[in-house]
Amino acid sequence: MNAPSHCALCKSRDRDVVQTQSLALLNRDEACKIDFSVCKACGHLQQWPPPVSPELMAHHYKTFATYEIFGDAKRLRSAPPAIHTERFLALVRDMGLAPGRAYEVGCASGEMLHQFKNHGWQVRGCDPSPSAVSQARAIFDIDADLGGEEKAIPRQKDLDLILACHVLEHLYDPPATLARFHAALTPNGYLVVEVPCATAPQSLPPGWFTFEHLHYYQPAILEVLLKNAGFELVEARIDMRTHHYPVITIAARKMPQPPLEIVPFEPTNGVLLAHSYAARDKLLSIAVAKRVARFKEPVFLYGAGIHTAQLLDRTNLAPRIIAIADRDPKKWGQTQAGKPVISPQELFTHPAKAPVIVSSYVSEKPIVDALLKGGIESSRIIPLYADMADLGAEERPNRIAG
Ligand SMILES: [Zn+2]
Repeated sequence: MNAPSHCALCKSRDRDVVQTQSLALLNRDEACKIDFSVCKACGHLQQWPPPVSPELMAHHYKTFATYEIFGDAKRLRSAPPAIHTERFLALVRDMGLAPGRAYEVGCASGEMLHQFKNHGWQVRGCDPSPSAVSQARAIFDIDADLGGEEKAIPRQKDLDLILACHVLEHLYDPPATLARFHAALTPNGYLVVEVPCATAPQSLPPGWFTFEHLHYYQPAILEVLLKNAGFELVEARIDMRTHHYPVITIAARKMPQPPLEIVPFEPTNGVLLAHSYAARDKLLSIAVAKRVARFKEPVFLYGAGIHTAQLLDRTNLAPRIIAIADRDPKKWGQTQAGKPVISPQELFTHPAKAPVIVSSYVSEKPIVDALLKGGIESSRIIPLYADMADLGAEERPNRIAG
């Protein structure tokens, strides 16, 4: 497949590269190079060109990001809605939508559909992960089509509601997907989507520019995208607090007629915002690089995956790594940047008593706890983000009040 050489939203070829990453993926010798660019014609920030190839992305989802859930089936069925599901339910309730036929794209194991079913909706979904699709059936008795929306949605019609939670940022051709959604909805059907929201660079967490996200949506750009796909915005809610980055949840109604005129994108703000995000990310990575530069001796890393690939890209750590520990058994025995991925148990009993750098932002605290529990002395544990104050006031991201 030829990599698109144009903007995924407006087809312009005029771009500024704001960041480039060269990532050492699991079991791959060749680094994956990604340019993050802002389109000068529409202001949209995206992987471009090329985005991570669909083949590589499919491999990643199949092997490492399988979106399975864990736990007792009966308990999962009676559990309260997840936070994002709660946001979707609230939006649908506040709009006064009567239950009808709902279809979720990227339904993972079916948790959200299960909750909608409990509220009287007839539900179905699709997901590319075979294990997630079989869990949806086994745990929640929900029919899920295996595969992406490009095959599943054209088989649907007269849907009352399409749900897409953290899907649009993964798509290769968002306008084409929205056109399929439009076609599958009943006249005046609804679309509810949620994506990470590029709205406040000071809230950017480390690792925000990432392998899995092809798009970094700003509210104004998302709104134009939806309008041009034939949707009318009904409500948009930005949540700055619940996650480690802001998210935007949007409800849009299908317009019975396609738009008469294409609404133009207004690129100026988008370009500025994209550059501020890149500048902010650069400060963070410089701060992290300074922190690891203190360690001249061999080290362990904890956490194999994209975060570690980014850490290795921005520091000179790689040659001094003994091994990378990870709790996911699927990763044991693989390599990243030529280093073995080992189990936590192997790390705990390893004869080398080297420092352990915790390579995770989201799970830093539980990892530190697991290391202490496994008998690693606290003096050997190096969290990179815990006391951000040490990274210097200038470089410190504003912590999101929880
Ligand atoms: Zn564009």
